[in-house]
Amino acid sequence: MEQEYLSEDIIEQIKDFPFYFQHFTKEQKLLIDKLIINEELKSRYKNYGLCIECRQPNTGSNWCQSCNAKHFQQDFKNWTSGNPDVDKLIQESQLNAKSEDEKLIWIEYDRFENIKYIAKGGFGTISKAICKEGIIANWNYETNQWNKYSDFTVALKHLNNSKDITLEFLNEIIPHLRMNKYEHTIKLYGITKDLNTNDFIMVIEYANEGSLRQMLDKLSYGELYILSEIASGLNDIHKEGLIHQDFHSGNILYSFVNPADFVFIADLGLCRPANEKSVQHNKNVYGVLPYVAPEVLRGKEYTQASDIYSFGIIINEVFNGIPPYHDMAHDEFLAIRICQGFRPGFTIKVPQLIEDIFKQCVDANPLKRPTAEYLKVLFSKWNYAADSETEKQFSEAAKFNKEQPSSTNNSTELTYTTHPQAIYTSRLLKFNNLPEPTNADNTDNDCLEEDYSESTKIDFTKLNISNSQDNI
Ligand SMILES: [Zn+2]
Repeated sequence: MEQEYLSEDIIEQIKDFPFYFQHFTKEQKLLIDKLIINEELKSRYKNYGLCIECRQPNTGSNWCQSCNAKHFQQDFKNWTSGNPDVDKLIQESQLNAKSEDEKLIWIEYDRFENIKYIAKGGFGTISKAICKEGIIANWNYETNQWNKYSDFTVALKHLNNSKDITLEFLNEIIPHLRMNKYEHTIKLYGITKDLNTNDFIMVIEYANEGSLRQMLDKLSYGELYILSEIASGLNDIHKEGLIHQDFHSGNILYSFVNPADFVFIADLGLCRPANEKSVQHNKNVYGVLPYVAPEVLRGKEYTQASDIYSFGIIINEVFNGIPPYHDMAHDEFLAIRICQGFRPGFTIKVPQLIEDIFKQCVDANPLKRPTAEYLKVLFSKWNYAADSETEKQFSEAAKFNKEQPSSTNNSTELTYTTHPQAIYTSRLLKFNNLPEPTNADNTDNDCLEEDYSESTKIDFTKLNISNSQDNI
């Protein structure tokens, strides 16, 4: 018979073993292998030990799914969001959570203090707040209450027009809970509701240094480090079978976690109005035009390959230090040119291998774009263990850039502004009759041949770009 749980007899034999499997004696390990046949139970026992309450193997670190489901369930009667669909979403996450990261919680709005506006985006605003009461961590078996991270700083993502939030929107949130366990994606903790507007608010992890777009002129860790971190996060998303759908530098956030900067990907799949019905959703494309792959502009569905296109644009942006197409209107004309093969050029000299990988990522044919895993390995290798040829290419490019007369590290001396119709927040992109996507012939692609020295004259203080997490 299939072993679905550990019998009393087995528990009696193993209950006094040390807490960590690594500390077991050889005999103890042999006995475990003999007694626990079910591989899942064995792995849970080895990784997380036994639950103090039911004595079955925990499902996560300090987390027993069935016991915690009961603790949550006893509390269902004590809270409501006022919307049965939202209640159901939160309750189901609590019943199904196999670890601390997989549950959502409902937090009353009045439990937040020091709420401070941070930025406005395409679908709402974002603010920072302190959650006084705290975020649930795990069950305390001595006090029979939840342990919490109290006085916890969070970001609040206000969803415009969300008092009529749709089930379709809510259903898109569930898969993203799986990303909570990864280190390069912003965690989603729970939901609250603005008492003045009745709009729902996502309670998410707070990144204390803002977005990559804000940091473009002060990247302290080097382009290759940043890109290897971003590729690693995107690879996690794709490994889970998800698609970001709105990947741009406003959704890549920085946080200083002593002793270093960390890069987080935010706003996975949340780029759309919260009250949109699925009939409209299937037809509408939302995003920041420069980052949207040409096939998506033409109405095809988002794919992982369209995220890779966006990553290609980010490669260009990170090396240039300015947002793509900052000097032109983000209109239908630009959309047509992108379909015809127009791509942002490099405004400084970059190694050939960077130009090559950029071109592969933004290929008009989605099938020719590399995978996130490939990019992760490649950028990590270039960053941490570059071979002599790679190092030579990078040092030659750096030397060349340094020798340019107009090249300067002092951005305050630069003068340049973005086009008033260059829009870097997510919005509905509706273009009709765009041409079939194609790659431009490299020999007469004026964009890729931009003059490096001219374009370095930029005044970052005058850049008309959104100042934080954009697609709120
Ligand atoms: Zn238990």
